Amino acid sequence: MKSIASFDLQYAHRFYGFRGEAQYLHGHTGVMTIEVEDTINEGVNMVFPCNEIRKTAWDVLKNFDHALILREDDPLLPAILEVYKSQGILNGHPQNTMKGEAFKTELATAYPDARIVVTKETMTVEGMIKLTYDLLKDKLNIVKITFTSGVNAASCDFTTHNDIERCPLCGIALNEEGVCPKCGYRKKK
Ligand SMILES: [Zn+2]
Ligand SMILES: [Zn+2]
Repeated sequence: MKSIASFDLQYAHRFYGFRGEAQYLHGHTGVMTIEVEDTINEGVNMVFPCNEIRKTAWDVLKNFDHALILREDDPLLPAILEVYKSQGILNGHPQNTMKGEAFKTELATAYPDARIVVTKETMTVEGMIKLTYDLLKDKLNIVKITFTSGVNAASCDFTTHNDIERCPLCGIALNEEGVCPKCGYRKKK
């Protein structure tokens, strides 16, 4: 069975070097849907709490919301950094509070203080799915990700490992010590 969560991401980007309108800087509201597959957790009669899928995903994907996503070789990047620097907002601002945890992977680096994500590949809907899966695959048993943005949409199916132990009382993932971070349930040895 599957538990499914969706959320919106508002971002700006462009396809550097692309022959088409998308080579110009523009924005989208993207809709990301993450499907988590596992057995039913009998204690709570659900696969995984949808609000917890959202929360886990949003912790990292917040980095893409109200953010500028540019490819690492895009000459707009140094230009934007220069403007943000002269404005004094490059390294954060008191009103830039809805920040995600910074991350750096093979595919992208997030700079939450500047609300910029620098990507290795062009940030198409396909690229966003690859990136999201890479960031969350160890935290959620993701079986499918769908991302729609304007008229573009893509989805990808993944094989799950079903080795994430869940709390029988509130359904969320237990930590490495076998303790539920939410309710304190402790797995019997
Ligand atoms: Zn676009
Ligand atoms: Zn719990």
